Amino acid sequence: MSERNLLMIPGPIEFEPSVLRALGEKTRSHLDPVFMKAYGRSLKRLREVFMAPNAQPFVVAGSGTLAMEMAVANLIQPGDQALVVNSGYFSDRLGVMLERHGAAVTHLRADPGALPSADEVEAALAGGKFKVMTITHVDTSTAVLAPVKELAAAARKHDVLVVVDGVCSVGGEAFEMEAWGVDVAFTASQKALGAPPGLAVLLAGPRALAAWKARTRPVASMYLDFAEWLPIHEAYEAQKPAYFATPPVNLIMALDVSLGHLVEEGMPARVQRHVNVATSMRAAWEALGLVPLPKSAAVSAHTLSALYYPGQVDAAFVKAVAAEGVVLAGGLHPQLKAKYFRVGHMGAVTKSDLVTTVSAIERGLKACGHPVELGRGVAALFSLSPAGERVGVRG
Ligand SMILES: *Cc1c(COP(=O)(O)O)cnc(C)c1O
Repeated sequence: MSERNLLMIPGPIEFEPSVLRALGEKTRSHLDPVFMKAYGRSLKRLREVFMAPNAQPFVVAGSGTLAMEMAVANLIQPGDQALVVNSGYFSDRLGVMLERHGAAVTHLRADPGALPSADEVEAALAGGKFKVMTITHVDTSTAVLAPVKELAAAARKHDVLVVVDGVCSVGGEAFEMEAWGVDVAFTASQKALGAPPGLAVLLAGPRALAAWKARTRPVASMYLDFAEWLPIHEAYEAQKPAYFATPPVNLIMALDVSLGHLVEEGMPARVQRHVNVATSMRAAWEALGLVPLPKSAAVSAHTLSALYYPGQVDAAFVKAVAAEGVVLAGGLHPQLKAKYFRVGHMGAVTKSDLVTTVSAIERGLKACGHPVELGRGVAALFSLSPAGERVGVRG
């Protein structure tokens, strides 16, 4: 099996070679000055990426789901009420987790591809006594993008803590944690942060830390407790040795390299690049007659696309495209799983990647017996400028 396929799923993604080289370097002691420097610098860089100068970052071994549970475990005590603005599979997961930690959960649901309206959220906030409200910024099962800024403002008005699942958004979508009044936001290394899977990343703002300090009983999970990790992260930022649980040294070295790329590119430029990529991809989908799952452009993510299989095409399509050298993801939303596929386009994605992906999709459609004019989607990708300048992606 060739290693030269192109990984275009919503995480893990294609990583910069420099990031992967860091992963392959000699494993240092977790107290080696070189590692301490990289860990401390990563935490500082995360404040820039999340736009949260006053938040406390946590980076621990685990996936995005662990980061999710860290948020819940530290904020929730049995009997607390939580409002879940539910946009799909990952919002459901957050709801289950909140319940496991003893919260009474209210879900605001919408049809797949849509979101509860701002009015519904406002009415729920006004009518309840919620401690936290959760928002899935990009629900990776549906490619629905939530208006975090507006929703967070509504929650703030009612003095409700705002928790954002940013696993498929932070590092790709516009996100200003502090300015938007978000109290906890989390992600994982393998999505728009551009490093291999294995790191749970969470930032907690001052109100979230105050709520954690005000708990009347300790966090049940020792591994997830802010109390264990706070001194460790403070020590690493101050370049002082500290130990609670062995950090995944190589992964953090790789994360530091990747965060360096993000900070160098600059968040506004990076966000604009993702908008440009998504705009190009949408032009290609339209030219190929592929219908997106999100019900409007306003709720469409820029980090991935979710598209219905056209005509008689079914899930065999994903295999057909893999045979053409591009790895896509199938559906994930339980109600629609067999009806759509997903294409990740975040992080270090290049123009060539877009061309390769759309071309493989055209050939895959053809292989599945769907009538398609080869090259039509590719031509649409950069249709606004024959030179492709509009896209502004590297390479
Ligand atoms: C991927 C993802 C998760 C889960 O992350 P894992 O690293 O797979 O545990 C949670 N929420 C969203 C929005 C995701 O995209």
